[in-house]
Amino acid sequence: MKAAVLHKIGERLTIEEISRPQPGVGEALVKVRACGIDGTDLKLLDGFGYVPELPFIMGHEVSGEVVEVSADVCDFAPGDRVVIYNFVTCGACVYCRTFRDQLCINMRGIVGVLDVPGGFAEYICLPASQLILLPEEVSWADGATCCDAGMTALHAVERADVEMGETVMVIGIGGVGSIVTQLLAASGVEVIAVDIDAAKEEWAREQGASAFMPAGSAARGGQRPDVSALIDVDRVIDIVGLEKSMAAGFNSLRRGGRMVVVGYTPELFPLSGKELAQNEKEVIGTRAGRRNDLRRCLELYAAGKLRSIVRRQYVLEQVNEALAELRAGVTGRIVLTCD
Ligand SMILES: [Zn+2]
Repeated sequence: MKAAVLHKIGERLTIEEISRPQPGVGEALVKVRACGIDGTDLKLLDGFGYVPELPFIMGHEVSGEVVEVSADVCDFAPGDRVVIYNFVTCGACVYCRTFRDQLCINMRGIVGVLDVPGGFAEYICLPASQLILLPEEVSWADGATCCDAGMTALHAVERADVEMGETVMVIGIGGVGSIVTQLLAASGVEVIAVDIDAAKEEWAREQGASAFMPAGSAARGGQRPDVSALIDVDRVIDIVGLEKSMAAGFNSLRRGGRMVVVGYTPELFPLSGKELAQNEKEVIGTRAGRRNDLRRCLELYAAGKLRSIVRRQYVLEQVNEALAELRAGVTGRIVLTCD
């Protein structure tokens, strides 16, 4: 089968012919139909964050068709449309048993990110427990984007605990930020979208944002973003995780407000204990999503309650071009597709 293989950090992926995996006990072989690419892939290429053993096949937003299952697998059969939950969990630890899959302490790996080969290939072989049925109404490409951007957005919005009528500043209008904005706007929440790229204003408003602030001066000129006019937002969801974005978000919170940090970088941000304590502010983290967040995201797409964020589609052989386009800055999601 064809696969795009990462041999060395910082280098292009090479398209190679490798042997097709065979499903072992409890496993299923899936023909990949779509695989999203995002900032996590760029971090892998740069050697920041997760560092898989090389050579490695990336690709963590995967949808496809089951083509073979081992004899003991009863829940899935060839022909099933599925998406892949990318945290390969133990199913037994306290987090797995309390439906917080993504915090599993005995994780075998993360599909396409760490130790488990991903979807930049024609086929992928995984424990069947990682598969979730993809409803007929949802396209391969949209199903793939639910596997990271979608479930992460649902989980972050839940962690933010927003009420109707409140105002939320969403920092970073990429894949996750777009779906966060759609979910909040549909729930009667006012969204102020912030992004370094001023050209994303139209896109952000299409997702449901009622205001847009370019933060270009912050990242490019080394100054704090001009968010003084936005002091007193109820919640901040920061999907960027730079020092400046987190500081700007924190300083924009009203008394008793909460900031949810989704994105991260190597940067830290200085937190004033006085500001935190005296204003009873909260800063919490959120990691990707649970199996149930992925299921609910697919249901929302099937019910027509979320709009596609996919703007560009490439074939597997064009993976390096797609990654270069992502690095240059894109609006919406890029997805690799296979017939
Ligand atoms: Zn576990």
